[in-house]
Amino acid sequence: MGQYNKVTADVIEKLKAIAPNRVFAGEEINEDYIHDEMPIYGKFAPEVVVEAASTEEISEVMKVCNENCIPVIPRGAGTGLAGGAVAIEGGVVLCTTRMNKILEYDMENLSVRVQPGVLLQNLADDAATRGLLYPPDPGEKFATLGGNVSTNAGGMRAVKYGTTRDYVRAMTVVLPTGEIVNFGSNVKKTSTGYSLLNLMIGSEGTLGIITELTLKLVPAPKEIISLIVPFEDLNACIGAVPKVLLSGLNPQALEFMEKDIVRMSEKYLEKQVFPQVIDGIEAGAYLLISFDGDSMEELEQISEQVSEILFEEGAIDILVADTPELKKNAWAARGSFLEAIQADTSELDECDVVVPISKIASYLEYVNSLAEKHDVRIKSFGHAGDGNLHIYVCRDELPQDEWEAKCKAAMDDMYAEADRIGGLVSGEHGIGHAKQEYLEKCVGPVEMQLMQNIKKVFDPNLILNPGKVCYKL
Ligand SMILES: Cc1cc2nc3c(=O)[nH]c(=O)nc-3n(C[C@H](O)[C@H](O)[C@H](O)COP(=O)(O)OP(=O)(O)OC[C@H]3O[C@@H](n4cnc5c(N)ncnc54)[C@H](O)[C@@H]3O)c2cc1C
Repeated sequence: MGQYNKVTADVIEKLKAIAPNRVFAGEEINEDYIHDEMPIYGKFAPEVVVEAASTEEISEVMKVCNENCIPVIPRGAGTGLAGGAVAIEGGVVLCTTRMNKILEYDMENLSVRVQPGVLLQNLADDAATRGLLYPPDPGEKFATLGGNVSTNAGGMRAVKYGTTRDYVRAMTVVLPTGEIVNFGSNVKKTSTGYSLLNLMIGSEGTLGIITELTLKLVPAPKEIISLIVPFEDLNACIGAVPKVLLSGLNPQALEFMEKDIVRMSEKYLEKQVFPQVIDGIEAGAYLLISFDGDSMEELEQISEQVSEILFEEGAIDILVADTPELKKNAWAARGSFLEAIQADTSELDECDVVVPISKIASYLEYVNSLAEKHDVRIKSFGHAGDGNLHIYVCRDELPQDEWEAKCKAAMDDMYAEADRIGGLVSGEHGIGHAKQEYLEKCVGPVEMQLMQNIKKVFDPNLILNPGKVCYKL
């Protein structure tokens, strides 16, 4: 702590010369820059915000900040959920949202070159007009691709297509010292030394600033079908997941949700989509499953095969969402879970663990028991197909000190149990500064030290995004 310098008037002048009219200091800084989408992890005002326009500008900014030992915090759209893009030591927030151009499609190599500030939704829409799909599909469509790569964002389609990591072929990076380097290449495979490309993916702005990306695309499937599958309880619902995965039918998305959260989301969206009572049996939990393919005939066949498996596993009904309207409404309800929980409580904390698929049901049973143990409301949903769970502890009316104590105790238990059964701290949101303690407990001192050593190699003055991931202040 305390090893950093404050941003002086002289430094501000230098930054203004590098990025004219795009440097904001003090009162000029928009309040959005002081937090991400989890303000519970604290609000931290940067001294300066630079809205960068090019790789060269970012390189010049880094040189000035490195020479003056000033922290720099890379930032995309600020939709992160781990306190990764906040200035906990002050300094300069370096925002990439103005670098938002889709530069070039390469149809022969099925790839696209983009600037880091392109929003996920914009690439998805643009690729679709060319019959292409950019498969990573995290819930927040207005995050930047630079942010997605830096957190290795996951999302609904990970079960079939993998995560963001699987779609990054190459990138341009500005190192904390200001050097500009290119990692990877537009090739399909490589055994070319250590993969610094992969090291950058998921490094949450602690090793370098991504200023350009070459991303892999795939031909877009022509048809998609979704199934809403109610079960009497969560155990039966989760129990069906391995069977669906084993069937080889290759779902594109496979999500589980308990009835309370579905109702909450439907209320939030003012639209009821999921059946509540079927033949006198109340649905306690649901699977929402999608398949994609080239024709409806193919998908209808898949739907029949999977229905057989699901009924054998205790599904009480299967609703085929084959109209665009029903599909949209079902996925809108799923996509609004976080906002619906946020709207339903005064404050919340989130746990984004990933556990082996075979352990999801018993882990969730444990998590649900914590609500009683710690006397707090806990809500969860998750990507059943890949074991990534989103668990929320709700503050409701609790006074500050009681809330802090109860939330911490519940989180400690959740992470400890995930660790015990072979899970990991974060499936897709990252560590930021909020989950450092659990990272350390999970990976242990040797792995932590290796990470810290790597950090020092990239960033000898430790100016890039201090206090995040492995580098504790
Ligand atoms: C409603 C909602 C739903 C969400 N659903 C999902 C989901 O399904 N799956 C999922 O994975 N995430 C999800 N998220 C989390 C969030 O959208 C992702 O973490 C996203 O990748 C963050 O992108 P961003 O542009 O907002 O990055 P920011 O929040 O600005 O930054 C995130 C991290 O990346 C670093 N960073 C950003 N840009 C760069 C760059 N160019 N170079 C180097 N480092 C950089 C920052 O320093 C920070 O550490 C959700 C968030 C919300 C609010």
